[in-house]
Amino acid sequence: MRGLRSDPVTSVTVRVPAKVNLQLSVGPPRDDGYHDLVNVFHAVSLFDEVTASDGARTAGEGPVAVSGETTVTVSCEGDSAGLVPLDGENLAVKAALALAARAGRPVSVHLAIRKAIPVAGGMAGGSADAAGALVACNELWGLGLTGQELMEIGGALGSDVPFALLGDTAVGTGRGEKLQPVPVGGEFHWVFALAEGGLSTAKVYGECDRLREATGERVAWPQADDVLMAALAAGDAKVLGEALVNDLQPAALMLCRPLVRTLSAGREHGALGALVSGSGPTCAFLAESAAEAAELATALQAAGVCRSAVTAYGPVPGATIVPTDHR
Ligand code: ATP
Repeated sequence: MRGLRSDPVTSVTVRVPAKVNLQLSVGPPRDDGYHDLVNVFHAVSLFDEVTASDGARTAGEGPVAVSGETTVTVSCEGDSAGLVPLDGENLAVKAALALAARAGRPVSVHLAIRKAIPVAGGMAGGSADAAGALVACNELWGLGLTGQELMEIGGALGSDVPFALLGDTAVGTGRGEKLQPVPVGGEFHWVFALAEGGLSTAKVYGECDRLREATGERVAWPQADDVLMAALAAGDAKVLGEALVNDLQPAALMLCRPLVRTLSAGREHGALGALVSGSGPTCAFLAESAAEAAELATALQAAGVCRSAVTAYGPVPGATIVPTDHR
């Protein structure tokens, strides 16, 4: 397709979804510090956008120069932009550098990130931006790497990056990076209650280990839940709501006590299921329909148990190039 274009491509925009974990079963800590997981990822319609443009910007234009010829800008609602690094720690920048190294080419790119995924919210926003940068730079530079090749580069950057590329619904094993797509028989309607501030994923895993040790809990080898898989295949929101499970939830609730109230408020207002999303602090609620999700979001906001509540549906595709005429 690239060869058919008459004008050179100077900028590519990619839309990448957030994820919620429908099942997050955490095994004992491994020698490398990670945990073996069964992680049922579900991509939902909250999207970050990553635009990669030819050539780094100059400092006078605003962006901070990060690494050699790479610059980045980040915009997000609220005041969370300050939580996103603008240096070589930004996962989108790491992704562009990793892709250039793999392709053996110099990097000269500006990355503009528009965030709708809450920062440090347990919805893998940083991983989404890394996936967006991989797809955008692959296209911008005409590298032609396959999805599988991008997933390999992404897996080395972070356990959640391959799923942000794949999207839809998938079960992740290992650190969560070995993915198997899961068939889903319908659309599910969600409400996400966004919290003030974020939670560090590493701290939440640490607290999970500490709680397990303190209570002497015997940690089973994680396995995919058959009831949850059947509910997904049937598109049955009621059964899915009851099967949602997150082993990190007790640790997230311990580190962020107000979430206990957020979860109960959602259940009281009729959510079919309620859980902390990943390492939190975002809480996810499953609703029967889009209309019920909208009502639940309004009720959660009125109850004052979250910073804001947004609705979304899933599953949705992974990182996707936005056609030029849609921008
Ligand atoms: P994790 O994917 O580790 O579970 P999370 O989903 O809770 O994290 P993220 O939004 O990915 O939350 O942010 C985690 C941390 O990653 C942030 O505190 C931030 O310092 C760092 N980070 C690096 N790059 C980005 C990025 N492009 N967007 C958001 N955060 C980023």
